[in-house]
Amino acid sequence: MVKLENPKKPENVSNKNIPLSDFIVNLDHGDPTAYEEYWRKMGDRCTVTIRGCDLMSYFSDMINLCWFLEPELEDAIKNLHVAVGNAATEDRYIVVGTGSTQLCQAAIHALASLARTNPVSVVAAAPFYSTYVEETTYVRSGMYKWEGDAWGFDKKGPYIELVTSPNNPDGTIRETVVNRPDDDEAKVIHDFAYYWPHYTPITRRQDHDIMLFTFSKITGHAGTRIGWALVKDKEVAKKMVEYITVNSIGVSKESQVRTTKILQVLTETCKSESESENFFKYGRAMMKDRWGKLREVVKESADFTLTKYPEAYCNYFGKSLESYPAFAWLGTKEETDLVSELRRHKVLCRAGERCGSDKKHVRVSMLSREDVFNAFLERLANMKAH
Ligand code: PMP
Repeated sequence: MVKLENPKKPENVSNKNIPLSDFIVNLDHGDPTAYEEYWRKMGDRCTVTIRGCDLMSYFSDMINLCWFLEPELEDAIKNLHVAVGNAATEDRYIVVGTGSTQLCQAAIHALASLARTNPVSVVAAAPFYSTYVEETTYVRSGMYKWEGDAWGFDKKGPYIELVTSPNNPDGTIRETVVNRPDDDEAKVIHDFAYYWPHYTPITRRQDHDIMLFTFSKITGHAGTRIGWALVKDKEVAKKMVEYITVNSIGVSKESQVRTTKILQVLTETCKSESESENFFKYGRAMMKDRWGKLREVVKESADFTLTKYPEAYCNYFGKSLESYPAFAWLGTKEETDLVSELRRHKVLCRAGERCGSDKKHVRVSMLSREDVFNAFLERLANMKAH
């Protein structure tokens, strides 16, 4: 069996007097704190200084369609995509958002407002990212309607398919499943939050109509709340900008400045061969280690299952590699409600049912701090023993 280091008390628990066995291991959210250690070691390389008189205007670049996008951030985004080779940036508009959460809603709004009829159906193939449900239902818009699982979707009329690849929650590589190539009312939003070389082999330079990326899951800076969309169609990009203007009159400049600096440093580290310097090498090694440990625990058990991923040639690393997704899609062979079973062991995960799947699956974040992850492994190992 895999040797588990004695987990320390997880740092994120405030009451230090609680015994370790009573700590709640929260792996429900994909809070990417795993990368803190790397950025700590980078010391002052990413420090930005902002004076009281800086960045005061609403506006960034009035001649840009996305007038609240800082020009330096635009360059940093393009340079990173060129260095990694994961997406085409030429001949398209970059729209910045307060996380890709805002951009996804902006894109759905844009496509629905340009559709000939409303409501536009919104679908995603199960298991899907559960937040899409809230994003499309919360404001009770009459312009679009969440129709759930894209597998088997056969409603006529305009629709938007959300394609997440690698997928949240199960890490698989996804393409559209509805596929109506001759239907001009068929629209797709590609969510590439995890299409980065520490998680998955970069097999092609993606070139779709609307592609969403988030700073959160590349470097772990989720709190900065920056995402961007690469959009081919000018009218769609305009509508997205309009939505963000009404919603928040642009996007924090402080956040954009910080993101710019960190993306510039990240792109620089891509040139390094060193595993401690090159962020994607560092991230891949860390994820490989975590996945190795988790697979060992699951292998020892007759009860649990994990998704297997095929190897593929990664253009970024120049060799064939495995996938190490940001979430594990843990299943049980028993007829049990896995999320409740884990909760009994004080482990919180996202229920499979919330992702359009079943009670026998849960989504587990692989991006927590090391001690929290080790505590999870320890509890999982004990669960199967009883
Ligand atoms: N899309 C996917 C697939 C995600 O997993 C997440 C984060 N959990 C997001 C979008 C939202 O990211 P952001 O922090 O940029 O809002």
